[in-house]
Amino acid sequence: MRRITLVSALMAGTALSGPAFADGHAHKIVDEPLELTIQMNHARYPTYKEDWPVEQVAREMTGIHLIDQTVGANTRTDENTGKTEALNLMLATGEIPDIVGSSRLKDFVNQYGPEGAFIGLNDLIEEHAPNLKAYFDARPEIRSAISAANGEMYYIPYLPDGKYGRAYFIRTDWLNALGLETPETVEELEEVLLAFRDGDPNGNGLKDEVPYFARQWPELIRLVTLWDGRSSGSDTSHDFYVDEGMVKHPYAQEGYRDGISNLARWYAEGLVDAEVFTRGSSAREYLLSENLGGMTHDWFASTAGYNDSLADKVNGFEFKAMAPPASVSGVRMEEHRRIPIKPDGWAIGYTNEHPVETIKYFDFWFSEEGRRLANFGVEGLTYNMVDGEPIFTEEFLTNGKPVNNQLYEIGSQLQARGYFQDYNYEKQWSNKHALEGIALYDEGDYLIDQFLGVAFNEKEQKVYDRYWPAIRDYMLERQQGWILGNGDVMTDWDAYAATLDKMGYQDVLEVMNSAYTRQYNN
Ligand code: CA
Repeated sequence: MRRITLVSALMAGTALSGPAFADGHAHKIVDEPLELTIQMNHARYPTYKEDWPVEQVAREMTGIHLIDQTVGANTRTDENTGKTEALNLMLATGEIPDIVGSSRLKDFVNQYGPEGAFIGLNDLIEEHAPNLKAYFDARPEIRSAISAANGEMYYIPYLPDGKYGRAYFIRTDWLNALGLETPETVEELEEVLLAFRDGDPNGNGLKDEVPYFARQWPELIRLVTLWDGRSSGSDTSHDFYVDEGMVKHPYAQEGYRDGISNLARWYAEGLVDAEVFTRGSSAREYLLSENLGGMTHDWFASTAGYNDSLADKVNGFEFKAMAPPASVSGVRMEEHRRIPIKPDGWAIGYTNEHPVETIKYFDFWFSEEGRRLANFGVEGLTYNMVDGEPIFTEEFLTNGKPVNNQLYEIGSQLQARGYFQDYNYEKQWSNKHALEGIALYDEGDYLIDQFLGVAFNEKEQKVYDRYWPAIRDYMLERQQGWILGNGDVMTDWDAYAATLDKMGYQDVLEVMNSAYTRQYNN
């Protein structure tokens, strides 16, 4: 409440000449306020809120007033199709708001845009959106990646900034307690995990350590990279990947087979959390604060943060990023990275009578001030300008609430809005352990290129929809079964591969590759 009051005060008067609005008039799109309807769906903020402080400032600066018209706040995503229930519900009503913002929007607009449900953006950007045009001119691969099969762009994406996402973290104080070095290879890693299991590094006299854990179980599958397999080609779990110019699926490759075989063995030997598939999102918090967990693969900033939050609770606690161990063939690879482009963002509905004003509004968020507003919130509320840079206030950073959540609450960092993230926003709350870890990964150059996705034409879409969901279910079912000891991947592999082909895997690869060639070779 206090925040909203503060912004209301800003709105009410004198601050119009204050710093937040210094050259606000430069961004005026319309002289008289123009109302546009919006549907906004995202798991973190199920509907659009007109009273978000960030929105209030944007209204003042642009003259565009967004009015919430969200149909159905259910944001459960169908993992197989990537389409959200809310979007399908909206389509079923036949009424598409002026603006549609959502997570997982890309496939939806690239399918229904060419059919007329959304307005193509290419000409609008060329003629009316200098900031967007400059961005796409500088990053043609992003333009290719988001375009539909007909070459038209139908949405403005959320564009993450920064390269690094997840890293390997290990209890370096446990290594010290056992007289061990940081493991450099997969073989050394196995020895360390065995020592974590048997050597009582937490010193309580009990064999209660959980050597490797993950709050998202696909981070167990990620370890197949240590046997030269792949677990995903993008920041989305179980995604296709590109190998020597061809789109393939990681779960049909022999490196994956070997990796799963070894992970099943690690699981059976107690080197992996017995509850890895069920423990869920609290695994990291619980296993670290109880001094039980030894190693994981998770996000830099939030994982390094435990060095601060557990400093007084767990004696000697030190959880540091380590370089990816070398695989059996000597490759050090960090498979996860921040993807440069997300399927989230916003689009213009076909009944919108103000497409020019709308694209100018989208463009505003790519201007310097709009981008700052999207990333840092409201000046004087969450940050101040210091030597020309937005710097979060001490109070905002140290009030004990997660920075991300506080920003979502005021309408900042909304990923169902098309905007270009500024990594500096995150750098300001990354502690020294996170920054040291990032420097380590930077030095080693462990990141690999990502698969940025394809847009199907109608024919390809049909093939994909017909075969892929069942194939994917089967792959995941076998994957978990093998890890848990239900069958042996080495013995089962040939039959598994034959079943994939019988289920249409080759047909899916064919449409993935025809779409890929069209999208990236133009
Ligand atoms: Ca113990």
